[in-house]
Amino acid sequence: MNVTTRADLTAWLDRLAERLTLIAPTAVEDQLLYQPVDGSSEITFDFVKTDLPVKEYFLPATHALLSIERGKEGIRLEEPTLEEERVIFGLRPCDARAIRVLDALFLEEEPVDPYYAERREKTTLVGLACQEMGDECFCNSLGLELDDPSDVDLMLTEITGREAPEGGYAVRVVTEKGKAILSGLMLEEVAGSPPKLAFRGQTPILEAEAWPEHFDDAYWARLADRCLSCRVCTYVCPTCRCFDVRDYETQSGDFERLRAWDSCMAEGYRRIAGGHNPRPTKAERLRNRFYCKFCYYPRDFGPVACVGCGRCIAKCPVNVDIVEILEDVATLERV
Ligand code: SF4
Ligand code: SF4
Repeated sequence: MNVTTRADLTAWLDRLAERLTLIAPTAVEDQLLYQPVDGSSEITFDFVKTDLPVKEYFLPATHALLSIERGKEGIRLEEPTLEEERVIFGLRPCDARAIRVLDALFLEEEPVDPYYAERREKTTLVGLACQEMGDECFCNSLGLELDDPSDVDLMLTEITGREAPEGGYAVRVVTEKGKAILSGLMLEEVAGSPPKLAFRGQTPILEAEAWPEHFDDAYWARLADRCLSCRVCTYVCPTCRCFDVRDYETQSGDFERLRAWDSCMAEGYRRIAGGHNPRPTKAERLRNRFYCKFCYYPRDFGPVACVGCGRCIAKCPVNVDIVEILEDVATLERV
């Protein structure tokens, strides 16, 4: 395997930050977030997972699609320029898999989303293998490994012991994009392979075809009694991707067209012209979140739209726990 030391890795990251945008896990007050950094000294290397995923770098919470200005020469439409080349460092395998889940909708289906496609094209993903599973993690139930390289361009696994007496990382090149940014990183070939890390037990997850049998179960109404419709679970989820497009008048009297995150947990999300709402109750909305992830998305686009990161468990104010729900659903009788 190819190994680099921590000192060589940080020197390489410092040089990367000088020539392009480097985004990495960074402590911001009491949160750990992926943020642009000026150098390796701002990066947190030892962590379980960040508080928020990297979704916002591909599908920003708000994004101005265009502005409409009224001037002396008439009306002018302007599309903001998009991003510079960038590297996201320190992606956990679950967050990298979530990007592939988003690709299935935004890149692999017609019409391709041009904003998402440009951001993906200009981004290189550097993974950092997990050292342990967090309390709420269940990625192993969704087929992931703690050092899964499938969805990144370069994969790093921290190693200690004989192969790296002062601490270091095994480096795997996964794609040409990864190879292209590797120049300047000191590597040494040593015998052996990165250690395999231990997993906890599995959470049962029904196949997409089995979910319709439980659609009318009273379970969903009982569960919804607890839900506050606060939408936090969808905003922190790396695979939730619903958005709305709205036009605003700015203070100067011009107009801006914004694309902004939306949430299927919101009462008005499905309301249509005339005021009809096909999903009027909280139980229907909560049920839809699970059907979207485990039944509709895999059926329509391929991957399951959950990567087992556990953020929705950690952040829900009333302890709606997706692992408990998956276990419950697996034991429900057919309705
Ligand atoms: S975070 Fe919890 S309370 Fe808020 S909408 Fe999601 S399930 Fe409901
Ligand atoms: S549903 Fe929950 S556990 Fe699954 S990817 Fe979204 S936040 Fe993570």
